Amino acid sequence: MVDFTSDCKSCAALCCVALAFDKGEMFAFDKPAGVPCKHLNGPLCGIHAKLESEGLKGCVRYQCDGAGQRVVQEVFSGQSWQDTPALLPPMLEAFAQMRQVHGLLLLLTSAKALPLPEAQLAELKTLTAQLSPEVWTPESLVAFERSNLPKTARAFLRSLKAFLP
Ligand code: SF4
Repeated sequence: MVDFTSDCKSCAALCCVALAFDKGEMFAFDKPAGVPCKHLNGPLCGIHAKLESEGLKGCVRYQCDGAGQRVVQEVFSGQSWQDTPALLPPMLEAFAQMRQVHGLLLLLTSAKALPLPEAQLAELKTLTAQLSPEVWTPESLVAFERSNLPKTARAFLRSLKAFLP
């Protein structure tokens, strides 16, 4: 069963490094992608309790849908780039790929609630299985990204618009 709930304590602050944001209503300053945020303190945010008052509503709202902790715990066996800096590039790459995997799985899970005919239900089941190997590895995530699976899953999800109430 995929856990879509973000668990920052089991992650390595991947979102606070990987993602870029621009100064504006949601963020108080600019941050480029791939650079640790200036407020990062060890594996956690140093201003977590006052993100809203510091003008960082975007950080409060962001959810990785469980991708971050899965990359750290499953793909990299609990290791962190903070202990082994050479792991940063592959961990960021895996985080981007896992966000795609979890994003697609979340949409497929929601689609189960639609009144789908047999053929669509079967396709939904097949795609969910393809996105749910027993264990993801850096290599299998690269293979996923290079395969037709992301495109096929997105096209399938778009086709389900016809079944929306
Ligand atoms: S302000 Fe805190 S939560 Fe937001 S990116 Fe920086 S370290 Fe992460």
